[in-house]
Amino acid sequence: MPDEEDRVNVTAQCMLHEPPVPVVVEDAENDGSKVTCPKCGKDYGSWGEVKAAMTEAATAQQQEKLTAPFQGLEGWKVTRD
Ligand SMILES: [Zn+2]
Repeated sequence: MPDEEDRVNVTAQCMLHEPPVPVVVEDAENDGSKVTCPKCGKDYGSWGEVKAAMTEAATAQQQEKLTAPFQGLEGWKVTRD
């Protein structure tokens, strides 16, 4: 069982619509299950593939968050008399 805090909070969406439509998976317990758009029927491949892509996106997001607070320090100088 994964920790609640470790869970990846990313939703895959079909970007062919405005606003984008969240995709659906036939069976979230089965990595081979198909992920499709409920609106246009586009096939996004297997759930396992989509999960891997979402995890990658979430990792990139977290890394951005970690570095964001330090961006304000750019341009500071330590001077010595
Ligand atoms: Zn769609």
